Amino acid sequence: MIDTVFTFGGDAPHSNARQKDKTVTGGKGANLAEMASIGLPVPPGFTIATEECLKYLREGGDFRTDLVSDIEEALRHVERTVGKGFGDANDPLLVSVRSGAAISMPGMMDTVLNLGLNDETVKGLAKVSGDERFAWDSYRRFIQMYADVVLGLDHGLFEEALEIAKEDNGFYADTEMSAEDWKRLVAEFKSIAEQELGEPFPQDPQAQLWGAIRAVFDSWDTERAKVYRRLNDIPHDMGTAVNVQAMVFGNMGDTSATGVAFTRDPSTGEKAYYGEWLVNAQGEDVVAGIRTPQYLTKARREAAGADKPSMEEAMPDAYGELARVFDLLERHYTDMQDIEFTVQQGKLWLLQTRNGKRTAKAALKMAVDMVGEGLIDEKTAICRVDPMALDQLLHPTLDPDAPRDVLTTGLPASPGAASGKIVLDADTAELWANRGEKVVLVRIETSPEDIHGMHAATGILTARGGMTSHAAVVARGMGRPCVSGASQVSISREDRTLTIGDRELKEGDVITIDGGNGQVIAGEVATIEPELAGDFGTLMEWADKHRRMAVRTNAETEADCKMARQFGAEGIGLCRTEHMFFDADRISAVRQMILADDETGRRAALDKLLPEQRKDFVAIFETMAGLPCTIRLLDPPLHEFLPHGDTEFEELAETTGVSIDKLRRRASELHEFNPMLGHRGCRLGITYPEIYEMQARAIFEAACEVAKTSGEAPVPEVMIPLVATRRELELLRALVDRVAREVFDASGTTLTYLVGTMIELPRAALMAGEIAEEAEFFSFGTNDLTQTTLGVSRDDAGRFLTEYVDKGIFARDPFVSLDVDGVGQLVELAAERGRKSRGDIKLGICGEHGGDPASIAFCEKTGLDYISASPYRVPIARLAAAQAALR
Ligand code: PEP
Ligand code: MG
Repeated sequence: MIDTVFTFGGDAPHSNARQKDKTVTGGKGANLAEMASIGLPVPPGFTIATEECLKYLREGGDFRTDLVSDIEEALRHVERTVGKGFGDANDPLLVSVRSGAAISMPGMMDTVLNLGLNDETVKGLAKVSGDERFAWDSYRRFIQMYADVVLGLDHGLFEEALEIAKEDNGFYADTEMSAEDWKRLVAEFKSIAEQELGEPFPQDPQAQLWGAIRAVFDSWDTERAKVYRRLNDIPHDMGTAVNVQAMVFGNMGDTSATGVAFTRDPSTGEKAYYGEWLVNAQGEDVVAGIRTPQYLTKARREAAGADKPSMEEAMPDAYGELARVFDLLERHYTDMQDIEFTVQQGKLWLLQTRNGKRTAKAALKMAVDMVGEGLIDEKTAICRVDPMALDQLLHPTLDPDAPRDVLTTGLPASPGAASGKIVLDADTAELWANRGEKVVLVRIETSPEDIHGMHAATGILTARGGMTSHAAVVARGMGRPCVSGASQVSISREDRTLTIGDRELKEGDVITIDGGNGQVIAGEVATIEPELAGDFGTLMEWADKHRRMAVRTNAETEADCKMARQFGAEGIGLCRTEHMFFDADRISAVRQMILADDETGRRAALDKLLPEQRKDFVAIFETMAGLPCTIRLLDPPLHEFLPHGDTEFEELAETTGVSIDKLRRRASELHEFNPMLGHRGCRLGITYPEIYEMQARAIFEAACEVAKTSGEAPVPEVMIPLVATRRELELLRALVDRVAREVFDASGTTLTYLVGTMIELPRAALMAGEIAEEAEFFSFGTNDLTQTTLGVSRDDAGRFLTEYVDKGIFARDPFVSLDVDGVGQLVELAAERGRKSRGDIKLGICGEHGGDPASIAFCEKTGLDYISASPYRVPIARLAAAQAALR
């Protein structure tokens, strides 16, 4: 039989490798054993392995028969080490019982302290400690915690009784309660428990212990634990360990204390001890906020202008010992530690250590500093920073100390925070922004014709739409904070008002959105600017050294290209040319083109667009200075460009000289029931080749112009969207090649360029071998590929996907993190077939997944040459690509 109960502290062996394996003994148990084995002062105890939890749950609450004797034996180790007896009325051993899974799940299960106390042992404790008040305080704490955690009674009942007791005595703090006061309260607590339970509060220490062990095991399967695991990607089949440990007391008078400490500052990363402590208290007092904790160090206390002494000042000896332990543990675990400690009558005890949670800023600073200190190497530093956390650093963020009046919460669609006046349409957004006002554009959902308003706005809020809805994709591309799918928001266009729950807001009222957590907040909240200096640059440099895949950006404006290059982009992976068609001075030519009856009419309109497109491409090629630029020819369904209201039809009739009736008729002819699967992508190029011809001409003319003026020859990669068959690509490639030849001949310049396609349809993935005969590169358009493989509309999925994720149907939103099992197979298969038919085919990804670390790891595994992400995601992609290569 393998060991499932492991002792630690005292003369325990600590030689069993399983004991230091977190999957067996949990994080807390493994680290307690580790600390004890390196000679640190850890109260003796034992850990019951996670296997026992799983077995207990599997077998409907039955313990293994031998477990009882194993635990009795382990308990004897604890008794021997401290020289006290469990349940001994003269000198009782008290224990704490705490859960501890392999991955910490804070809040899943509380702790039970002082277990072993009853009406008899409390007297023994009073006698040996010589402190009656301490003994009865410990007993009332035990009843309170056990009733809550193990017996499931409402803790409010006990808190209320304590409050009343204090009020009756005219006390403010718990510390003012005397032994007699606690005694009376214990009697009261017991009668509350008895009343609620219908039986007396358990007096037998053995029964108390087994009750607590059961409670810890059961806590693994509670609803809140399951939800927590789902949200944090923690598997359900790990189970929790139980740690039973001899109590040490921080509440034994003024030479005793308890506290929580970090070896470095978890919010700034500064190499300075950071923590809180309380004199004459037990652990939960620090966390529960019953008393305001004091600063650990003198420097902190002085900086905060606090007058209550720091531990450094009040208990210099114990503090000195603690500081020595900090350094030892940091060197041992080579990471910042989060430590719980207790001082009992001047002696320091360690109750827990673990790698501490930290902000993005702190994570960066610590990683870089620790390399400098020789504690870790560059590779470890790279892997230690969560790429997604970088997001916090790249955008202005809300001041965490500022108060927030949260109206509702939607999806965190694009990070960063923005405050501004509510505007309900794109034109108003532009108008108000032009007069210098900060505006937040609020729409039911956005469409391409809102681009100018989105650009003008500091932030975007939509009532509908998921993480890859138009608003979300465009906002991320522009670096605009966005909250999408805030379903409680309803908009009245007539009244120009907004209702959120029972709150009504008018256009012009100020709101703040937090794209980092989806909050919509009333009024303005102060923000703090991002800081990209120093440590950020250093870590990025290391990441670049260790990654294999190139990182490009999805960008179509000069400003975005510049920003992306600042963030380290090595080219453009996707330039969506349709976004350029929505500019106020172009849209009427675009509409004229769409509504024309025949090719001649379309060409006349395209002639007007050509110089504009060329200008765009010149700016892009100049900014990208010789880096490869993938430019995608027109993709969206044409009706997206159609005029909408009466005014737009009237304006168009005026500029084109065509009657409103005719324009309306033509517009209704173009209407599609399912435009995402309709006349879009290369189907436009096949039916209206003159559109692609104009775009190809604009690309090559711009490239030749920039080659002549700048000396750095652009590398255009012309990309054909939504291809399903080889023949489509064959026809369109011939068109692009012909235009290129014509332009090169006319300008006397010849440039290297590529023609390739997006893989966005299952058929394209399946037929990749054949398609590769015509394609010099593939770029995986995983937004559409996800939509078409799952048969889930990317614009409407927000309404039900959250529930799908909650119910575990999808581990994560497949539009955010690639469905590796399903869609991933198509990517792998297309990559393999593409390479087989064209050995040097270039492979990249330009769907939103190109900025998601888990999807990036998949791209590395599949051997893609590059990933492409929106400008603000470029640093995330660089770091994630390095981590993927290193792991
Ligand atoms: C895609 O489909 O993944 C893609 C990048 O194209 P778009 O989002 O423009 O459809
Ligand atoms: Mg697409």
